[in-house]
Amino acid sequence: MAVKKIDHVGIAVSSIDEVLPYYRDVLGLKFLGEEVITEQKVRVAFLGIGESRIELLEPTSDDSPISKFLEKRGGGIHHIAILVDDIDRALEAHRSEGRRLIDEKPRAGAHGMRIAFVHPKAASGVLLELCERKTE
Ligand code: ZN
Repeated sequence: MAVKKIDHVGIAVSSIDEVLPYYRDVLGLKFLGEEVITEQKVRVAFLGIGESRIELLEPTSDDSPISKFLEKRGGGIHHIAILVDDIDRALEAHRSEGRRLIDEKPRAGAHGMRIAFVHPKAASGVLLELCERKTE
């Protein structure tokens, strides 16, 4: 299994429309588009920064995991996403080490990626997202 790069850093916000002008116009990051991920009850916007991206996450309902995060912490860095070439092997490596996972199996993420979250207890207090680009 090879780890490729930090794919993106996820930042929880209460309104993408409110913060987007800062990232796009003041910092000058390239807006790459947005989409709603119904399953996770979030709207996401991606901005390019070098080989990596920033993902802004806005809750689409009160019971979204992002709503809970905003209530507790008032926004900020939500997760770091690591691009791997084989997410199934990455998950297996966690299991064989007895490291706690949030997702036992990969699920569908933004841009047709396969993603799975690792529990912060397994990764020094950081919520990690493993992601794999579909090969098509
Ligand atoms: Zn993410």
